[in-house]
Amino acid sequence: MTATLPVSGGGFEPYDVIVGQGLLSQLGVLIAPLVRGRTVIITDETVASLHGPAALASLQAAGVRGRLLTVPPGENSKSFAELERVIDRLLAFGLDRRDLIIALGGGVVGDLAGLAAALYMRGIDVVQVPTTLLAQVDSSVGGKTAIDTPRGKNLVGAFHQPRMVVADIDVLATLPARQLRSGWAEVLKHGLICDRDFFDWLAGEGAVGAKGDPVALTRAVVRSVEIKSAIVGEDEKEAGRRALLNLGHTFGHAIEAELGFDEDLLTHGEAVALGCAMAFRLSAALGLCAGAEAERVGTAVAAAGLPTRLEHAGVFRAERLLARMAGDKKAEGGRLTLILARAIGDAFVDKAVDSAALIDFLKGEGAA
Ligand code: NAD
Repeated sequence: MTATLPVSGGGFEPYDVIVGQGLLSQLGVLIAPLVRGRTVIITDETVASLHGPAALASLQAAGVRGRLLTVPPGENSKSFAELERVIDRLLAFGLDRRDLIIALGGGVVGDLAGLAAALYMRGIDVVQVPTTLLAQVDSSVGGKTAIDTPRGKNLVGAFHQPRMVVADIDVLATLPARQLRSGWAEVLKHGLICDRDFFDWLAGEGAVGAKGDPVALTRAVVRSVEIKSAIVGEDEKEAGRRALLNLGHTFGHAIEAELGFDEDLLTHGEAVALGCAMAFRLSAALGLCAGAEAERVGTAVAAAGLPTRLEHAGVFRAERLLARMAGDKKAEGGRLTLILARAIGDAFVDKAVDSAALIDFLKGEGAA
């Protein structure tokens, strides 16, 4: 099954997200209508060796001129230095405003190549070809691009919507199992935000997706993209509803930061899964949602091989976690904004979470 999902909103040109199996070999044909000049595929070295030849062959077969530009894999590539190097290479290639960038990779490549496209000659077109589950269900859709600075992640960036997103489920077959599970956290998050039926399916027969079943993965990616694109279409610049997509992220980000963003200890997706479980437990502790709902969330998260409880005993201090959460750039005017829930599928933005209650909660979760 191939699905074509339109993304549209007030502030940007509509585009399609195409989801299905075997799409990389059709990439050239799919993007040909958008190509006015040449293309450059920006990718990382790992993805280049696994999927670069198929992508280039597909462009060639469709008569699209393309070449590869590789960056080292990993978050460190989301830096000013790497951005400068990429833009310098594009200039050396003589790329102009009619040309097109193809971001082939996970969220790191999508963010870096997307930002390079936003800046190059004041903005050239980009097509996102996400190759991790996280990138397929989250980062490739919505137009956020960014690099990191030593002062924090994603602090320098731009909104630059892609012209098209091509999500080939088959490329996920080469993804390490832990990376696949991490992306599954964002899939679960979409159900938790606003679609109880989807969550029920993910927690039941759809759970095989977290182990790589391509049919379940296709359905999970399609529904996630529908949910994310509907929210982005209403609120591109995160003035309101888009903040719901941060469910689990404020807790998760604080925990990741305390662990020094050490992906061996905790991946971003694992932090989001843990953050979602914590957001539901806090919602239950505050009397906003039933305790049984929080338990169901924990069960589904654990069944996907994702963490539900703070581990690394003794590492976390409640005050430090709170400071991280309040310092998160999503905090507004010093008040703590959290995404909480009334039930599975019914998340909301709470802009007045009481710090003392949160400290109690964090201590109950095992922080010192
Ligand atoms: P990633 O891009 O670093 O990819 C993870 C690893 O998997 C890398 O080593 C990569 O080389 C490898 N890989 C990618 N595709 C593969 C494949 N098909 N087979 C085998 N290996 C493959 O990480 P990620 O989890 O995809 O993305 C994380 C980044 O996304 C973070 O920087 C985060 O800030 C960003 N992000 C952005 C948004 C947004 O809206 N822009 C949203 C969420 C996350």
